[in-house]
Amino acid sequence: MPDSLTPALLKFRDEFSDFLLEHLDSSEEEFRELSLERDYYRMAQPIELGGRASSAMEMLIARETIAKSGIVYPGAIIGPEPGLLSKVDGLLKSDYLIPLLRGEKKGAFAFTESNADSPTVAEWDDGSLVVSGTKSYVSGGHLSDFMSVLLTVDPEKVTGKSGPAVLVIDSNSDGIKMGDPFYSLDGSSHVVVEFQSVNVDAVNIIGEIGQGIPRALGNIMQERIEQSATSVGLAMYALDIVTAHLKKPHRSGGTLSDLEGVRLRYADMRINTFAARSVLYRVGRLLSSGDQCINEVTTAKVFCTEAASSVIDTAVQLVGGQALVSGHPLENLYRKIRSMRLAGGASDILRLNVSKGVFEFDSGIV
Ligand SMILES: Cc1cc2nc3c(=O)[nH]c(=O)nc-3n(C[C@H](O)[C@H](O)[C@H](O)COP(=O)(O)OP(=O)(O)OC[C@H]3O[C@@H](n4cnc5c(N)ncnc54)[C@H](O)[C@@H]3O)c2cc1C
Repeated sequence: MPDSLTPALLKFRDEFSDFLLEHLDSSEEEFRELSLERDYYRMAQPIELGGRASSAMEMLIARETIAKSGIVYPGAIIGPEPGLLSKVDGLLKSDYLIPLLRGEKKGAFAFTESNADSPTVAEWDDGSLVVSGTKSYVSGGHLSDFMSVLLTVDPEKVTGKSGPAVLVIDSNSDGIKMGDPFYSLDGSSHVVVEFQSVNVDAVNIIGEIGQGIPRALGNIMQERIEQSATSVGLAMYALDIVTAHLKKPHRSGGTLSDLEGVRLRYADMRINTFAARSVLYRVGRLLSSGDQCINEVTTAKVFCTEAASSVIDTAVQLVGGQALVSGHPLENLYRKIRSMRLAGGASDILRLNVSKGVFEFDSGIV
């Protein structure tokens, strides 16, 4: 497939791909070591903290290439990313950001609430905040050292400061009750987190009170473009599996690729993958140029995850019953891609956001 990448990006992709293929049988821990040696592990981290500060396009290509290779632990290769903590200073930097980037601490993101009766709020108590409420779907919360929690701050008596904010809270703080982990279809684990009057110092607020939604949104946008790249890579991986399968002798006498009906389905898989990749790269270029592109990232998340879902579903159908057997790569891809139409934002909610971007904010080029 033509990619219209610059020579520098093509070189990066070829070298990165060769690195992955050379070590494909390595364990997660071995990959982490190898990636550190090759300096890929800090590619998402800022230069002043020892990272490579790779461009948006390099990051997308890296995620796509990892998924296309069938490697299921991208974090061991790309390493930790600053996420919500990217612009913090002082204690948030020394106690959370730097240990996170060094792999000494793990963070989790607490945003979703299933129960309108138990919103997460913070009340002022002198200089600190007292947090109450419940978050319903915190991935890796039980394994985390801290959580970045989106909540609403009640008005402070003197300054009147209030509104949505993101607060960093130690996961072992007094008053935090974590439920037993539960597992989603894709194999990832999550917890319900209850905050029962948890006392948190006000220095743990990321940025300004009132800026919580745009901050959380920035983080979710990052997650959405990463999911777009991963889903495109998963579709490419499925295509490789199906292409090999269709060329094999089949009990019908020839190969499945001889059959016109199969070729029609196969062409749709390639067309969908090509279209999704084109969207991904276009939005990647917009991001690299520094343009504001919330609508475009949202579009990429919906389009790429849905196109990849269709490709992987057809792949399962063409490979047949064996594709559904536990341990078959397509069985794993099928479970993984299904969850990506909900994680990071349900497709229909994102569609509403795209329309909102046009009708209420008159923004974007979609
Ligand atoms: C694998 C995985 C990992 C996750 N990790 C995290 C995490 O780390 N932290 C975190 O905070 N959350 C996490 N989540 C939660 C995720 O963000 C939510 O599942 C997602 O945003 C959808 O919200 P919901 O589940 O409450 O569904 P709802 O918002 O209830 O939506 C369900 C469906 O209802 C319909 N719907 C809802 N509202 C509307 C509307 N206004 N108009 C039209 N249709 C509508 C849509 O069809 C939608 O798909 C994770 C989820 C998954 C699957």
